[in-house]
Amino acid sequence: MSGPTLTVHRATDQIGGNCIEIAGDGHRLILDVGRPLDAPSDAQGLIPATLDLAAPDTSVLISHPHQDHYGLLEETPASWPVYSGAATERLIRLTAGIFRKRVDRQFRHWIVGQATQIGPFTVKPWLTDHSAFDAHMLQIDGMGRRILYSGDFRRHGRKSGLVERLMADPPANVDVLLMEGTNLGTTKPSKTEAALESEFIDLFNSTPGRVFVAWSAQNVDRTVTLYRAALQAGRTLVVDLYTAEVMQALGDFGRLPLPDWSRIMVVVTSSLARMYRRRGDEAFVQQMVENGISARKLEQHRTKWVVMVRPSLARDYARSGVTPTSDDAWSFSQWSGYLKAPDGQALQQWFDQGGAQAKHIHTSGHASPDDLRAFANAIAPKWLVPIHGIAWDEEQVGFPPVKRLRDGEPLLLA
Ligand SMILES: [Zn+2]
Ligand SMILES: [Zn+2]
Repeated sequence: MSGPTLTVHRATDQIGGNCIEIAGDGHRLILDVGRPLDAPSDAQGLIPATLDLAAPDTSVLISHPHQDHYGLLEETPASWPVYSGAATERLIRLTAGIFRKRVDRQFRHWIVGQATQIGPFTVKPWLTDHSAFDAHMLQIDGMGRRILYSGDFRRHGRKSGLVERLMADPPANVDVLLMEGTNLGTTKPSKTEAALESEFIDLFNSTPGRVFVAWSAQNVDRTVTLYRAALQAGRTLVVDLYTAEVMQALGDFGRLPLPDWSRIMVVVTSSLARMYRRRGDEAFVQQMVENGISARKLEQHRTKWVVMVRPSLARDYARSGVTPTSDDAWSFSQWSGYLKAPDGQALQQWFDQGGAQAKHIHTSGHASPDDLRAFANAIAPKWLVPIHGIAWDEEQVGFPPVKRLRDGEPLLLA
């Protein structure tokens, strides 16, 4: 029996936009249908030209709820079943709701520790450590071959134990490891979330006024880090309505901070409240108002607050009379590239004008080059197929044998 055919339709030489096909016996699995990170948010027609949209018996598997892994789902045929973790579906729908869009697809949920049979393939999901909640690696067995898809992962977050356990007891005889290499060729800091927690505690303790922090609402590890640091510094973490919605949605999936906890406050800003009301979610806004504060309140009791900020929130705060001062500090806890965009520059200017101290504390959602090498060698595949990176051509030393593919080039795993 000949083996399956592997085709990386997109992501052999870029970060994100993943679209990978495993085909055989008349069936196809598509691992992720990501939107390229550099594509304008309203751009259409981004499905890779080599992906046949007419082929029958195709299933889509979404590794985690980041746009560069699921953003083109709406452009795939509605007849293709979609598989993901349960929390991944929740977050995909929540994100769509912010843009007042609906996701007209039914999802089938895999369960970690259980295998799902799809045609000739057995899919085994491994929960992993990444800046997205509910991120998975996927082991695909079928037609006499074994493939492990890393999705996006790291080894220094709050769930690093999951990666350690997989490395200590890896699946045997992996033919192909499809692995991300986001941080190859960089020296990005890969501090642990625990190390970030201490840095935030220091910042909170040494700042006489408020500490404003910009982070992604869906980076739940970071929300936990900030909540724990606020608690230890005797401060209250102030989140926006959207983050509160994310916290509530994920409450079913683990013991995570919730908007009604005593050291958490929800700041009810006018434009977000308007967005939720227009969408018919008046009840949610009312519920949050009960545990909420108005932006104006942030001008009082300044020593109490760790305040979430982002460019749009800062505009709302400014309209409500919130002005940073030299007693305040601010921290950009996201990829520094966003800070160079016009929105990020405006945010920086807002804090600079008030004389707030800047102390940016962040760590990557992706594995460091050393951790990528350690992980690949622990899995010890026959072939490593590089994806989700821009430095794979220069950085192959220290890895298992590399099979470099071009986008759309099929590889028969005979
Ligand atoms: Zn990615
Ligand atoms: Zn990701």
